[in-house]
Amino acid sequence: METLVDGFGRRFPYLRLSLTEACNYRCTYCLPDGYRADGGPKFLSLGEIQRLVRAFAALGMRKIRLTGGEPSLRKDLPSIIAAVSATPGVEKVAITTNGCLLPRHVAVWREAGLTALNVSLDTLDPARFAAITGHDRFTEVTAGVEQALGLGFDSVKLNAVLLRGLNDDELPAWSDYLRERDIAIRFIELMRTGDNKDYFERHHLRAESLERQLQEAGWVLGQRAPDAGPAREYSHPDYRGRIGIIAPYSKDFCAGCNRLRVTARGDLRLCLFADFGIALRPLLQADSDQDALVARIATQLGLKAAGHGLHQGKTGITPHFASIGG
Ligand code: SAM
Repeated sequence: METLVDGFGRRFPYLRLSLTEACNYRCTYCLPDGYRADGGPKFLSLGEIQRLVRAFAALGMRKIRLTGGEPSLRKDLPSIIAAVSATPGVEKVAITTNGCLLPRHVAVWREAGLTALNVSLDTLDPARFAAITGHDRFTEVTAGVEQALGLGFDSVKLNAVLLRGLNDDELPAWSDYLRERDIAIRFIELMRTGDNKDYFERHHLRAESLERQLQEAGWVLGQRAPDAGPAREYSHPDYRGRIGIIAPYSKDFCAGCNRLRVTARGDLRLCLFADFGIALRPLLQADSDQDALVARIATQLGLKAAGHGLHQGKTGITPHFASIGG
């Protein structure tokens, strides 16, 4: 099956599937007051997820990322990983997690078929970590990452949201961390969402400023793989690890878009900041709806816009990333 292509010639081999909106962290830029259940419909069941992933794989999706909320809060996560990994056509099964349950579960996830792991770690300073996430779990997260590095994943990456005045002075500490570790850290520029306007104004920092520091320190920009994320990835002869920069406010960022998203309740989102969702759930109830599901996804792709409206302050219907999976 050919990969899905939109009206702007962009290809979509990559689906980000949210498994839950619930999160046990209270990240200051995302869910500062913690997750509160809204009494809405339940999150997708294993059977619904299987049908959904089968349809996307039939449309040429090769990489599925499980996200949330915090996906590791799902008790059936190993079964979900196994089902996604067994879907014909799926080659990569990745997860984005806050990492606090890694020591307990990461080996089981790997065994179930997980091929890539992204762990959110905004700082290398335990006190800052607790202040940003609302949880004193730095030790568990970093120990879990060490454990994961020995499990043979295709890739282990860290995500740090760049925050002015909170973690923007840590390049030396990260460089030390990367010296001997085969791991990539992605610095993600803080994005404005419906809920974080004031915080964004206080802490947003253009990623280009960090990128200039990297170039001055001898880091060199590499090539991007077709199903890779949007990071510009740098390497350096003196360091085993790599540094990626995700700069959503940069020119032409959306021209490289290669992913679609599905929320934990089965809405297709054509963009992280889309103004609307497309309900897929009614077509996830029976195998006999598979052709209709595939057709709905393919048709709706025609509505994908050329770019997000972040520069105009338009954040669409996304109040925070826990509602869509980042
Ligand atoms: N709970 C998981 C985790 O912590 O990785 C997965 C979901 S989380 C919403 C996915 C990623 O989005 C995390 O790396 C988080 O730091 C990032 N994120 C959340 N809000 C953001 C924002 N406003 N701007 C940039 N990144 C954000």
